[in-house]
Amino acid sequence: MVGAGGHISGGGYGLLSRLHGLTSDWLTAVDIATVDAHGNVELRRVDRHQEPDLFRALRGAGNGNFGVITSFRFAALPAAPREVAEASLVFPWNDLSEEQFAQLLATYGEYWDTRGRDPDTWGLFVLFNVGTRGPNGRLSMHAQFCQPDGTTSDLSVLHEFFARFSSFRPVVTLSSRQVTGKSAVDALQRDTSQKPAPTPYSVTIRPWLDATLAGGASGSGIRAKYKSAYMKRTFTAAEAGAIYRFFSSGSVTAQSSVISMDSYGGAINKPGLARETAIAQRSSILKLQWQCYWRDDSEDEIHLRELDEFFTSVYTGDHVDARHQGTPWGDRYEGCYMNYPDADMLRHAYWPELFHGRDGLYPFLQSVKRRYDPNNIFHHSMSVRTT
Ligand SMILES: Cc1cc2nc3c(=O)[nH]c(=O)nc-3n(C[C@H](O)[C@H](O)[C@H](O)COP(=O)(O)OP(=O)(O)OC[C@H]3O[C@@H](n4cnc5c(N)ncnc54)[C@H](O)[C@@H]3O)c2cc1C
Repeated sequence: MVGAGGHISGGGYGLLSRLHGLTSDWLTAVDIATVDAHGNVELRRVDRHQEPDLFRALRGAGNGNFGVITSFRFAALPAAPREVAEASLVFPWNDLSEEQFAQLLATYGEYWDTRGRDPDTWGLFVLFNVGTRGPNGRLSMHAQFCQPDGTTSDLSVLHEFFARFSSFRPVVTLSSRQVTGKSAVDALQRDTSQKPAPTPYSVTIRPWLDATLAGGASGSGIRAKYKSAYMKRTFTAAEAGAIYRFFSSGSVTAQSSVISMDSYGGAINKPGLARETAIAQRSSILKLQWQCYWRDDSEDEIHLRELDEFFTSVYTGDHVDARHQGTPWGDRYEGCYMNYPDADMLRHAYWPELFHGRDGLYPFLQSVKRRYDPNNIFHHSMSVRTT
């Protein structure tokens, strides 16, 4: 379950973020209870004009740092799309060589670094899931698309994106959610581009709300570990090689893990947002979610250790800044997402910069912390420190 309190105040991104930005980008005021140096509770409404520093801090770093948020206010929100198109590609994971896999990742990243920067593509969001390799392995792309006006009358952007992957011989071409919605034939007939789909995948078009409600997942008794990495450029062969080897290993952690390589950028990277909000990562084209799931607490140690070792191996080498080996730091990266808190990173003295960037945001957050929570009432292992 995800609650609004941490999700919105920590940034909050989703399938419409390339089109409209982060949830916290749209905040216009916040009601919050803070505690002063004498232990007195103060109720505040903060916005751009009233206590603007605290307001900025709450737009991306408000989770568990400064007080208890009681309301989020949005003066205006973008209109939800009327409908979205959904389609998936599944790749023959077991048949791909390490070199082919590296080409596949490079092709994917290259799209977001080039064509994916054009505003007409911002309604395209893709989750590229890489899991264990083998006969029943998982290597699939799930796309959701609408035009910037929230309609799906022209699917050429979606087709153009999928065309880039035809040489990787996608084997199963089922839509992720074919059960409801119109058929692919309907969808293609309505496509004014008149360009045939390059591979026989099917497209489902359905109301945005239906697609969104069907997208959630939850489970009870599931234990999980998340890690993250923001990428400013496409994948290197070294990264792809480390990912290929881990998911080919057959280890129990490899079988329980998936990296969701999410498209990013678009409206999130609009100039000025890094200074207005407390989310520093405004140049990335991809955001990687590293996930591992299991049920039995006796497996905690092995999964936490092996996922950590895997993450470290991907960010070790010439592609990473020499003094920051083992972490997504350097010209190619923008660190990690605070809404996927990862205490493994505390071993690095520079962990605040990994999560809050290198342009002075963390010292700013520390000054807000000293002013509004001088006794550090609101804290956790990765919260903003007063000194
Ligand atoms: C299954 C799952 C799916 C997710 N999907 C996405 C996704 O699509 N996009 C995305 O951006 N993130 C996603 N996340 C990450 C999610 O945004 C964070 O886990 C977020 O912190 C959840 O907020 P919460 O209030 O539910 O969590 P909690 O664990 O209750 O809180 C997280 C932090 O926020 C603080 N906090 C909570 N409420 C308040 C409040 N009212 N005032 C001040 N501080 C508060 C808590 O003290 C804590 O430090 C997902 C997480 C999970 C588990």
